[in-house]
Amino acid sequence: MRGVIMHAPGDVRVEDRDTPTIERPTDAIIRVTATCICGSDLWPYRGVEPVDHTPMGHEYVGVVSEIGADVKNVEVGDFVVGSFVASDNTCEICRAGYQSRCVHNVMMGSIGTQAEYARIPLADGTLVPTPGTPDPDLIPSLLAASDVLGTGWFAAVAAEAGPGKTVAVVGDGAVGLLAILAAKQLGAERIIAMSRHADRQELARRFGATDIVEERGREGAAKIKELTNGLGAHSVVEAVGTQESMDQAIRATRPGGHIGFVGVAHNVSIDGLRLFFSGVHLHGGPAPVRRFLPDLIQLIWDREIDPGVVFDLTLPLEEAAEGYRAMDERRATKVLLTV
Ligand SMILES: [Zn+2]
Repeated sequence: MRGVIMHAPGDVRVEDRDTPTIERPTDAIIRVTATCICGSDLWPYRGVEPVDHTPMGHEYVGVVSEIGADVKNVEVGDFVVGSFVASDNTCEICRAGYQSRCVHNVMMGSIGTQAEYARIPLADGTLVPTPGTPDPDLIPSLLAASDVLGTGWFAAVAAEAGPGKTVAVVGDGAVGLLAILAAKQLGAERIIAMSRHADRQELARRFGATDIVEERGREGAAKIKELTNGLGAHSVVEAVGTQESMDQAIRATRPGGHIGFVGVAHNVSIDGLRLFFSGVHLHGGPAPVRRFLPDLIQLIWDREIDPGVVFDLTLPLEEAAEGYRAMDERRATKVLLTV
């Protein structure tokens, strides 16, 4: 089969890979229908994380082509959506709603779903079948549920977005934009998008942002305070993962407020004394997308939400290298790869 391999930073190729087979009785194999390039795939692309002939990709939707002997919840032919972390969905951590930290978790990035087929470990706990074969126009939204929508949703939930709340979102990538959609769905009263890109501001407004703040860092946080009677937002989503974005999120949150942080932290440190006096709640990490998948699939199926519009470039798998370049150069927010 064909699949994406990152040989070294900046060097993405589509090559022949071994077609996966059932390795454990709890595995399933899916024929990938669509996959995509994640903002986090840019960390190795830019040399911030190590990479050496690594299969890429952790987002996927597809059709089950084979199941192991112990798989009961999905059948060959089912159209399925899964999280970027495989989980058993039965251990104590999973049952508490933190499936991405399952005691048996397998990061799908270690398998590489930017390929024609993918092996899904712990298929019963990981995969959620859709109510039927989706209309083609629903596929981008279902694919978004696999990571960016689920992650944005978790961020909004972790930040306790809801009725009567002012929510500020730091980061205007796909996750930040979908956190806006989530905050709107959760009933937030006011949603402030922090973005300086016109196209992303437009999408933010479409998803439910009521205000746009273009300033960053201290100035950005000061602007949030200005918009909230000097108090700061009740709920802040941090969807970048840099020192500046985390500082900005903490500064923008009112005492007693909540921060949902889902940007993968790179060289972020938090000053203990400043955190102490901020009086904020910090809750984040790799999003337990599996917790939200059944509800998100239903919202998409019923056409209540359209998260798939975050994909602004669609390419065939064979042109993955151009997809990485487009995201690296910020010519695209999120790239869908058809398989
Ligand atoms: Zn578990």
